[in-house]
Amino acid sequence: MSSKKNVAIIGAGLTGITIANLIKKRINFTIFEKSRGLGGRMATRRAEPYQFNHGAQYFKVENKGFKDFLNPLIKNKIIKNLELNHVEILNKEIIKKFKINSKKYFTAQSKMNDVVKSLAKNNFSIKLSCKIVQIKKLNNKWFIFDSDIVSYGPYDWLFLTIPPNQVIDILNKDFKFIDIIKKIKMNSCYSIMLGFDETKKLNFDTALCLDQDIRWLSLNKEYQDNKEYFNLIINSSYNFAEQNINNSKIEISDYLIKQASDVLCCKLDNYKYKAIHFWKYAMSQKSNNLGSLLDENLKIIVCGDWCMNGRVEGAFLSARDSVSKILKYI
Ligand SMILES: Cc1cc2nc3c(=O)[nH]c(=O)nc-3n(C[C@H](O)[C@H](O)[C@H](O)COP(=O)(O)OP(=O)(O)OC[C@H]3O[C@@H](n4cnc5c(N)ncnc54)[C@H](O)[C@@H]3O)c2cc1C
Repeated sequence: MSSKKNVAIIGAGLTGITIANLIKKRINFTIFEKSRGLGGRMATRRAEPYQFNHGAQYFKVENKGFKDFLNPLIKNKIIKNLELNHVEILNKEIIKKFKINSKKYFTAQSKMNDVVKSLAKNNFSIKLSCKIVQIKKLNNKWFIFDSDIVSYGPYDWLFLTIPPNQVIDILNKDFKFIDIIKKIKMNSCYSIMLGFDETKKLNFDTALCLDQDIRWLSLNKEYQDNKEYFNLIINSSYNFAEQNINNSKIEISDYLIKQASDVLCCKLDNYKYKAIHFWKYAMSQKSNNLGSLLDENLKIIVCGDWCMNGRVEGAFLSARDSVSKILKYI
């Protein structure tokens, strides 16, 4: 009987953790994540008593395999069906108003990063705060290096589950699909997080602004010690983020808060907490429907949401595709 292969999975977002779940019985693996925690763009920022899901806030589940994969999370009350009041705003007027209450949409019961955390079993080997910057092949085995030039390996295969621009930083031109990856474009986005200790009287939970530099507003109330706290997320439009990549974050947040305040006709400068996050690679500009990209000579697989539709379900589907492709080699 052949011994189990050793594999490195780079990235601990939904794609990386899904791969680990689907393949755990067949291989030995270590997951490498540059951040301090798991979840990637399914992100949560805690700043007691405030809490913000400032990446994906909800996601669509259409694929039966994805629904089955998520069933334990539904059962364990990590995720629930989405129920909210949504509006669309044009020229500072609400032009559409509807309730989203569909069995197809899910959101976190509380923290979005709990989704990935709960899928990452305690026995998974995960190295946090470990940014992989280089890979090298020696005697037909992979060695990978972090930003402190510490090396890890040997590995038979590498899974890269990180955004395309970050893949290009690591892979060299020999990778079979490098030209396809170079053509993928990702949108950027600023997320402003504001915490208030007085409730704002707004008659919606999420708003899409169709003609502003702010694109998305989302409100969320939390109860703690019988007190109500109010969390507001303001996301910029992709265009605005693109045009203001190098501008001062203070100026950007002041500008976007002022615009949100104008659109909502509501004072927003009395926040008790403020933070800004720049998502350089928030979402792919279009669906790419590539599945995953396996180079059998190099023994590298590249996958992630951007290989599919740039969404949470796409991350799962790309991960599943990569596992089905690697099975004949391990
Ligand atoms: C603001 C925003 C709103 C969104 N809204 C929605 C939505 O409404 N619905 C929806 O379905 N999706 C939404 N998304 C997209 C969704 O979050 C992603 O599709 C999904 O989380 C992608 O998962 P992933 O594992 O493929 O990638 P990621 O979550 O990006 O995971 C990749 C991981 O790799 C790590 N990493 C990167 N480089 C390295 C390196 N060199 N070494 C080690 N680790 C590395 C990163 O830190 C990250 O944790 C949104 C995203 C953003 C940012």
